[in-house]
Amino acid sequence: MRSPAENRLAYQVELVRAKRLAAGVTLDENWWKRLKARWPHRLSCEMSCGPGWSDLIEAVNELVDQEGVDPITFSQIKEKYGSLRMYWHGIDPVGRIDALVDAAEEISEGVCETCGNASKMRQSGGPGGYVHSACDDHAIPGSSIIRVKTESIRTPIGRFRATTIEGDE
Ligand SMILES: [Zn+2]
Repeated sequence: MRSPAENRLAYQVELVRAKRLAAGVTLDENWWKRLKARWPHRLSCEMSCGPGWSDLIEAVNELVDQEGVDPITFSQIKEKYGSLRMYWHGIDPVGRIDALVDAAEEISEGVCETCGNASKMRQSGGPGGYVHSACDDHAIPGSSIIRVKTESIRTPIGRFRATTIEGDE
């Protein structure tokens, strides 16, 4: 079941996608330039993931705008264990940015990193192999579908995401 933050973000992603398609903007390897132009300060970091997650990242930033909190800055946006990671710093007194970033990570596991279509988590090369979120068209040949479980663990010294692979379906 999706969390309230995931529902809110999923809805925003659909708005972003509809607006982008209406404007005739297609996604290619330069997808990040448009987002950096829109949020030059907040997105002055490395953004190293595929174009399929562009709408998701744009939606996160629109919701950060809506929060109206003190400015936060992303320090790194990347793919890790097949899902989206958005590391940030700033002030988040009630954890709404954390909830949003966690929701983006969860949603990315069902969005193809290459094209943005519905995806499954896959692993190529057997156990220990490369984990990726891909649709049938963009799956690495020979990869198998896996289930990934991610937990957010909060400790006094910080917050960690623990990802475990639950094996083949
Ligand atoms: Zn795809």
